[in-house]
Amino acid sequence: MMRYDFHIHTEYCGHAPGMTVEVICRRAEELNLETIAITDHIYDNASAGIVEKIRQDLKKAPPKLPVVIGAEVDVDSDFTDGRLAANILKSVDYLIAGFHYVPTVGNYPWKPEHNSLDEPTFMRYWESTLLGIVSNPRIHTLAHPGRLLAAAVGPKVNWSRALKVFKKAAKLSAKNRIAWELNELTGRRLPPEFAEKWHEIYAVALDAGVKLIFGSDSHDPESIGEAEFIETLLAKLPPGSLSTPREILEWKKQIQ
Ligand SMILES: [Zn+2]
Ligand SMILES: [Zn+2]
Repeated sequence: MMRYDFHIHTEYCGHAPGMTVEVICRRAEELNLETIAITDHIYDNASAGIVEKIRQDLKKAPPKLPVVIGAEVDVDSDFTDGRLAANILKSVDYLIAGFHYVPTVGNYPWKPEHNSLDEPTFMRYWESTLLGIVSNPRIHTLAHPGRLLAAAVGPKVNWSRALKVFKKAAKLSAKNRIAWELNELTGRRLPPEFAEKWHEIYAVALDAGVKLIFGSDSHDPESIGEAEFIETLLAKLPPGSLSTPREILEWKKQIQ
């Protein structure tokens, strides 16, 4: 159990039934969390109205803990440069970039069979997209680093090559003050061969001076604050590797 949770979805995204803003806040209070961020999916400019709905819901049922209004904005899969699919920076206080789709194809791959690109092409697009995301200083946090790679390439992934790409991404992330997310939902979905080495991605980040933040990526109330997988990762990283939300938000302010 974590003291905060900075990645929570609502039912407005269409695939988190029962996750009203009120249910989320009551659950966070019940767990005595210090703070949460509600970060629903924003798929494009048309869906950006979700943020305003969340803001209104919070006014109607004011929470007892500090709640940050954020968003997980999709990376635009029509391009391979990591640009975001919506421009909503002004309406949120915390911006997560979600790299979910196969670049240029646009589908969500659950397993390698869903990735129609050949491996060299996918790797090229994955790298240029990832480096593009972390070149955007408006972004606070890179959501679930590596999740798409593990799902789309699977056991055949060239891990040492992937780590080299993560190293380049970490350098840019440190420069642009973009945190990397310790994402609990990823752990539940990760093919087993990845789980034991997943902490290596975060070791690369820490080496470059990138801060780490926790998010459950909850789509149901029971998952809020849950961190079973992330605790196994933190046990393999140096003590104090996890930052607080305040540290992440302050870090970003220093370059804005
Ligand atoms: Zn995501
Ligand atoms: Zn998410």
